[in-house]
Amino acid sequence: MKIIMLGAPGAGKGTQAKKIAAKYGIPHISTGDIFRSNIKAGTELGKKAKSFIDQGLLVPDEVTIGMLLDRIHEADCKNGYILDGVPRTIAQAAALEKAGITFDDVISIEISDETIMERMSGRRVCESCGASYHMVAVPPKQEGVCDKCGGKLVQRKDDAPETVKARLEVYHKETEPLKDFYAQRGLLKPVENQPSVEETSRAILHALGR
Ligand code: AMP
Repeated sequence: MKIIMLGAPGAGKGTQAKKIAAKYGIPHISTGDIFRSNIKAGTELGKKAKSFIDQGLLVPDEVTIGMLLDRIHEADCKNGYILDGVPRTIAQAAALEKAGITFDDVISIEISDETIMERMSGRRVCESCGASYHMVAVPPKQEGVCDKCGGKLVQRKDDAPETVKARLEVYHKETEPLKDFYAQRGLLKPVENQPSVEETSRAILHALGR
């Protein structure tokens, strides 16, 4: 089972992808998470990616594609995986195709820019394990503390309003054309964002026909 999760930054791709991954026992692969853990560990890859991420720009395709292909050739990916935040450009999608990698479904979470701007201001992530919360929609049991590992909850630097605007612009210009790319291949399943995480999950499972 190989699935791609498309959608604007803050659409809820990560939250939904993790749920699907747990339900079907397949790995959740987020290139954003891989970049962030590399930045934290101070690797060469992290150094290359950091300035782009901090500005809300995309990390260059040549860096991202190599990293992704390495990841999906690991042993835990043999029965499938769900991609979150990748591909993000036509060049990345074309590189996957060229490598002979095919997908079963491409989910696109549809949500307005206004809702994204409101939502991102409340997002908090765990500094230690990366778990994601929202001050109103998905609050932790104790303010500022991760339910899962007790780590400190912080606002991602690239969730600042000016950076979110830049990321939305990049999304419309670079990533949205992927909807046509996958529609032409008969794989695109658009899903409207719903008022709650659970309702959006149900809509996604319905679209997947599972
Ligand atoms: P995300 O956690 O998916 O919102 O990603 C955070 C940031 O990491 C993005 O704004 C980009 O700077 C970078 N990034 C993540 N995935 C990709 C990708 N597939 N291609 C290029 N840059 C990416």
